[in-house]
Amino acid sequence: MRILIVEDEHGIAAFLKQGLEEEAYAVDIADDGKKGLHLALSGEYDLLLLDWMLPGISGIELCRQFRKEFNDTPIIFLTARDTVDETVFGLQAGANDYIKKPFHFEELLERIKVQLRPKSGDHSLFTLGNITLNTDTHQVYKEEKEVSLTQKEFALLEFLLRNKGKVCRRTRIIESVWDIHFEYNTGIIDVYINSLRKKLQFSDDENYIQTVRGVGYIAQEK
Ligand code: CA
Repeated sequence: MRILIVEDEHGIAAFLKQGLEEEAYAVDIADDGKKGLHLALSGEYDLLLLDWMLPGISGIELCRQFRKEFNDTPIIFLTARDTVDETVFGLQAGANDYIKKPFHFEELLERIKVQLRPKSGDHSLFTLGNITLNTDTHQVYKEEKEVSLTQKEFALLEFLLRNKGKVCRRTRIIESVWDIHFEYNTGIIDVYINSLRKKLQFSDDENYIQTVRGVGYIAQEK
């Protein structure tokens, strides 16, 4: 899952990026409203975190313009403003939630997870054959046994499971799992897929992550 942070206070932006990357999100930062809108309109993000007061254009204006193109991408405001009127104003502009500065990272993380939950079914559990991935606890199990994955391996597996049964193109995988500064050498995906296959110890009849030659990968039960 890839998140865009639009925040002109570099300390806050860097702190958030580090914390979210430790949670296996891919994170990009824009430090003014115009750059933020430009990046957001690329459509490559699963969620936007917007500061309210920004150079260029304000977070509210960014939110309004973004909503003309994208209805479903969740937006959370980071704001020092907490009067009822201004909060309503933000929600009316199309935000899904807001959090007041200063905030605890854990609380923001929970709000992000709520926004990224699948719309129906069990909120945080994804399954693939005898594999279970829990996005709340960040654990992966094969049958009863926990499998230890790196953050990138976890993010890659999460992406494949969220798209179970669909072919995931290599470029889409890179865009979702790695951040904008990553050079577009998609060979890295194969390295991580191999490592996942090894750690998940697929037997011959459990080949749950399949290569779609020339295109990408698909996660599916046989
Ligand atoms: Ca600001």
